[in-house]
Amino acid sequence: MKRGMLIILSGPSGVGKGTVREELFKDESLNLSYSISMTTRKPRPAETEGVDYFFVDEKTFVDKIAQGGLLEWARFVGNYYGTPKDNVDRLLDEGKNVVLEIEVQGALQVMKKCPDALTIFLVPPSLEELERRIRGRRTESEDIVKERLDKARKEIQTKDEYKYVVENDDVHLAKDKIAKIIREHKI
Ligand code: 5GP
Repeated sequence: MKRGMLIILSGPSGVGKGTVREELFKDESLNLSYSISMTTRKPRPAETEGVDYFFVDEKTFVDKIAQGGLLEWARFVGNYYGTPKDNVDRLLDEGKNVVLEIEVQGALQVMKKCPDALTIFLVPPSLEELERRIRGRRTESEDIVKERLDKARKEIQTKDEYKYVVENDDVHLAKDKIAKIIREHKI
């Protein structure tokens, strides 16, 4: 069986990676599978263990790093986030195209390890719009919102490291553009 393609969907917090990903996953012809990350962040009210993330404590996370069990990991606004390696390998072996929805530091690590990965960076139409989206989520304190925005400005500066940059102005348009990129990308 042909091994699947590794797809990195990155971009600043609040740009709408999750929403675009949900739209992409409705398209079964893309043969996508999602890599569920591990994090030490506390679950938000609408989030489910083992669906949105594997929510773990810091010791479990650090042990996982020590065992070499993560394909990449990063500290982001006070918490750890990482991609469990076994699962990604298994899905790729099964021929699935595996989507990692991750922030920039982790994406840069995967680019080094897997230069063939299809890397896509989502940008907001403007920083004002990004701020509106982060505030609209209403799940974070003012300090965290400020920290995420500050981080976003820096993250956007790395966009040229990615094979494709897609603006997320309209989620359906962004989905269509990315679906086309996935169909046309050959490894
Ligand atoms: P949030 O707390 O909003 O769910 O995620 C914060 C940031 O961490 C987002 O940019 C999200 O895409 C990213 N993220 C989620 N999972 C991972 C992961 O496994 N590795 C890395 N490096 N970033 C992740």
